[in-house]
Amino acid sequence: MNGIAQTIPAGSVPTKRRFTGTGLSRGVGLGRIAVLRDRLGPRFAAHAADPKIQIERFRKALEFARTNLIQLTSSGSGTATADILDVHLLILDSHTLTDRVEQLITSRGLSAQDAVAATAEELADKQSAAPDHLLAEKALDIRDAANRILQALGGSEEPSPPEGSVFAVRELTPQTVLELAARKPAAIITEHGGWTSHASIVARELKIPVVTGLQGLTEKFLDGTVVLVNGTTGEVIAEPDASDCTSLSISPSEDFGYSAEIGPLTAADGVGITLRVNADNVDVYEAAVRIGCRGIGLFRSEITLRGNRGFPTEKEQYEIYCAIAEASGEDGVRIRTFDVGTEQLAAGDFVERNPSLGLKSIRLSLTETDFFRTQIRALLRSSHGRNVSIVLPMISGVGEILRSKAVIEEEKAHLQRSGIPSGDPSVGVMIEVPSAVLMSLEICDHADFLCLGTNDLVQYLLAVDRDNEAVAEWYQSLHPAVIRAVETVAKAANASDTPASVCGEIAGSPFYLPLLLGLGIRELSVNIHSIAHVRRLISGVRIDESRELAESVKQLETSAEIETALRKHYQENWPHLFPAGLLESTYR
Ligand code: PEP
Ligand code: MG
Repeated sequence: MNGIAQTIPAGSVPTKRRFTGTGLSRGVGLGRIAVLRDRLGPRFAAHAADPKIQIERFRKALEFARTNLIQLTSSGSGTATADILDVHLLILDSHTLTDRVEQLITSRGLSAQDAVAATAEELADKQSAAPDHLLAEKALDIRDAANRILQALGGSEEPSPPEGSVFAVRELTPQTVLELAARKPAAIITEHGGWTSHASIVARELKIPVVTGLQGLTEKFLDGTVVLVNGTTGEVIAEPDASDCTSLSISPSEDFGYSAEIGPLTAADGVGITLRVNADNVDVYEAAVRIGCRGIGLFRSEITLRGNRGFPTEKEQYEIYCAIAEASGEDGVRIRTFDVGTEQLAAGDFVERNPSLGLKSIRLSLTETDFFRTQIRALLRSSHGRNVSIVLPMISGVGEILRSKAVIEEEKAHLQRSGIPSGDPSVGVMIEVPSAVLMSLEICDHADFLCLGTNDLVQYLLAVDRDNEAVAEWYQSLHPAVIRAVETVAKAANASDTPASVCGEIAGSPFYLPLLLGLGIRELSVNIHSIAHVRRLISGVRIDESRELAESVKQLETSAEIETALRKHYQENWPHLFPAGLLESTYR
């Protein structure tokens, strides 16, 4: 995202002002604002000289931006960062962009800058208009890529924001977070985002405070303004004074520091609880082990997708899976098969009218079976002598499990016939679609374990988009129906001795945890930064107490009542077990 920091003319430094958004990633950050421009307008003098000269300037700037990108790609950036750079490169190479820029210069006499800006807007608006949030995300990529050319056109004097800035950006993608992370941001503030959107999950993993819901932030905040961002409360203070900084430095604390005791985890009455980590790479896993986690409860394999280049080859996947399996050793890794939609397959012009309900995840795997079979072979091979389990996403009933298992068996037989060693991985399923909850007893007959994907379960159960802050108020993980669903699954699993782990974001929420224990959950898989407080809370709570709590909460009819009851119970009984400030802040 080099070069997209927008310098807004100085001169109107605001006096202290407070804004309240929604915290998406805890932590406090203090820094100068760097507004990341995602709407392009003419940025430089619109003086258009001879079109031939403008075209030449454009071509040189394009070449400069390309060379820059290629250098960045080969400079050893992380996989996901490399992906976004690849996408930018593809955009810069696209004739749709270059032809249109040159056409605008010739036919309308625009300057190179104005032609690039106008073209980017046209292309990005087309994507934004698509009823598909992933295509809308591509609009951001187009604008980012165009900004690289604009920067080249404007010379190299536009400075990159220094490390420790607070980035203000309209909306985040996981790739943007990863790219910004390289600039060690103090915090990020956005207009749009949801607690369980993948960008927020990545920000929490990287410990970057994020506040969203600040509408019109590019007008509210001027570049260079000092802001204090509290990702826990959602508060943002422009030009804070010393007392603001002092109060935040003592509260709320983010975690308890890492527990020195990292042995087996038990509740206060000795009941064993399994705590795994959601990890997509070896470094995160090794760090999690050092602070008391054993095993990877969710490896989101789609993280290995390489931009528009599609799926990794069988060999690449085999190597990635072996590496993570070697790291996780006997404790094992649960690798979820690709949980992607058609957009990530770059499947031409096919536009999902309703992406969350479309041809995605296991449905896509069972439709376009080639890539699924490739992945299954890589998984089977990597499970030879290693503890690798397969997790099937977005299962709605027994039928998809049977069909997926048939593919697994066929590929196993195929490998055996070819003399290629393969293992016999256990096969679990994500429970994240309401029908799977209702079928959980039957599903237990066909699955070795269950993973409760509550991020999606809340979305599908309550019919509320998890990525859309406009409906965040309806995304209620404490809704009585969600609690009933978790209980239904826990009961089915416990009755059939099928291990059931919660791996959605609520598993890492101290606020939710006592309830999960009380509903019968004994396995959790959490973000690395939740490990310390999850351990602390679990070791301080007795199962019978949490069961009583769950029973009393089950009598209540709204999420607001449930939240109030839990808050009261925690304040009266276990205030010492919660991070400071958490019980006073908004529940998420
Ligand atoms: C979930 O849906 O809860 C989950 C863990 O998976 P993801 O967030 O990747 O959809
Ligand atoms: Mg999910």
